[in-house]
Amino acid sequence: MSDTPSYIIKIPARRVEWPTVILTIAIYGGFLALTFWWQSLPVWVVALAGGWLIAWQGSLQHEVIHGHPTGNQRINNAIGSIPLSLWLPYEIYRESHLEHHLDEHLTDPIEDPESSYFTRTAWERLGRANFLHAGIRPCSGG
Ligand SMILES: [Zn+2]
Repeated sequence: MSDTPSYIIKIPARRVEWPTVILTIAIYGGFLALTFWWQSLPVWVVALAGGWLIAWQGSLQHEVIHGHPTGNQRINNAIGSIPLSLWLPYEIYRESHLEHHLDEHLTDPIEDPESSYFTRTAWERLGRANFLHAGIRPCSGG
């Protein structure tokens, strides 16, 4: 019996998932290229491609947290920790996401730490002044 939780994929140490590595190169290479040539591109292309690449990296970060694309989690974390979006630091996302999977209430709208659902009582407790606060709590349970 393995000690590895079911939500972490245990890839043999010498095995590498090359399609994910190629995707990683496409994301970071694309972002570097976009950053280098942004002035020679129409702004809508930069916005669209930048949004695409950042969303793609979010998906990659999720895979990395779950043990892809190598059997070495340090390498995987290094792949996921580059802060393209400047929104949610990888380490905070990693910790809260793993907590989300540890939670016996996974996908429970009230108990899951990744849920943004509010009961009527909790919503009313926020009041008008805290309305915006509700939208910027990506990883807190409170
Ligand atoms: Zn997950």
